[in-house]
Amino acid sequence: NRQIVLDNRPQGEASVQNFRLVTSETPPLQEGQVLVRHHFLSLDPYMRGRMNDSKSYAASQPLGEVMIGGTVGEIVESRHEGYCVGDKVVGMGGWQEYSVVDANQSGVLRKVDTSRVPLSAYLGAVGMPGVTAYYGLVHILEPKAGQTVTVTAAAGAVGSAYAALAKARGCRVVGIAGGYEKCRYATQELGYDACIDYKEHRNEVRSLSQALRDACPDGIDGHFENVGGWIMDAVMLRMNAFSRMALCGLIAGYDGQPVPMANPSLILINRMRIEGFIVSEQMQVWPAALKELGELVAEGKLRPRESIAQGIEAAPEAFIGMLKGRNFGKQLVKLL
Ligand code: NDP
Repeated sequence: NRQIVLDNRPQGEASVQNFRLVTSETPPLQEGQVLVRHHFLSLDPYMRGRMNDSKSYAASQPLGEVMIGGTVGEIVESRHEGYCVGDKVVGMGGWQEYSVVDANQSGVLRKVDTSRVPLSAYLGAVGMPGVTAYYGLVHILEPKAGQTVTVTAAAGAVGSAYAALAKARGCRVVGIAGGYEKCRYATQELGYDACIDYKEHRNEVRSLSQALRDACPDGIDGHFENVGGWIMDAVMLRMNAFSRMALCGLIAGYDGQPVPMANPSLILINRMRIEGFIVSEQMQVWPAALKELGELVAEGKLRPRESIAQGIEAAPEAFIGMLKGRNFGKQLVKLL
């Protein structure tokens, strides 16, 4: 069983040198356990925070242990009556090829139906990132049909699901993403009404804000923030009175860069509500979210793209690449 462990903590920017590949034997199964062979590993921005040992909402990743991570795979050995060899499951198997799971613990494994939704989608659109988009949109922004909603990191895993969910609610949905290709994909494949390439605006808040004014002629009623910093400042200038912001991520600061907010007085002037959230604390919405997202994928209304790295040894580089925007859609690792 090949595994990636966290070897040392990043000083500033994370790098592949923070990780180490190790090999271990999988232990024989105890009663109630199953052996899962992972088909795909999910790489997600939150893992960057776990690499630090500073205080956060979640415990930091211990050094020398297998990196935390969501996985989909199949049961290859079972000593639990609820699971048979061949069952497809989603769990938190970590950065490794196999995991031994105590299936009696509630919530550690979930069987999934791959007849209408591909297995890998359970890590993206029909998994944690999809539910993240759902929670922020449906429970924080609560948009009405005809309103304008926006999102940053628009072509990524969360952004892709957000567009489909917002369109299903009759909203005008405008994305912000890095690069011409991602923006074209956002409007042509993901259903965005418009998508702005922030890289064209070279850190100029006024310039990006002007582009947002053109794309959102009625202003912004709800914004879903994934990035922070100057991009968020540009959005703030276009927010309507009584608008809302779901603060989901601040990826521009994950390597320790400051992400100041230039103009907090806009919150007051516009009587805005800004709410942060952690999707894993909102388990009550997961069933309804997964149902809607599964249907959107099965019906072809949400066709999420995936960037797939090959083999566990490719995980560190793919992870660093995802933090830098080299992924196009959901970043996965296929375990060979
Ligand atoms: P993505 O698939 O969107 O990948 C990350 C993307 O972030 C990159 O592709 C890149 O897109 C963008 N990015 C990275 N650095 C910058 C930067 N400095 N400025 C602007 N854009 C940048 O990841 P996810 O969809 O999985 O996650 C999106 C966000 O949601 C993250 O902030 C994540 O932490 C957050 N999240 C929060 C959760 C919660 O419970 N609160 C749960 C899940 C995710 P581009 O090329 O367009 O720049």
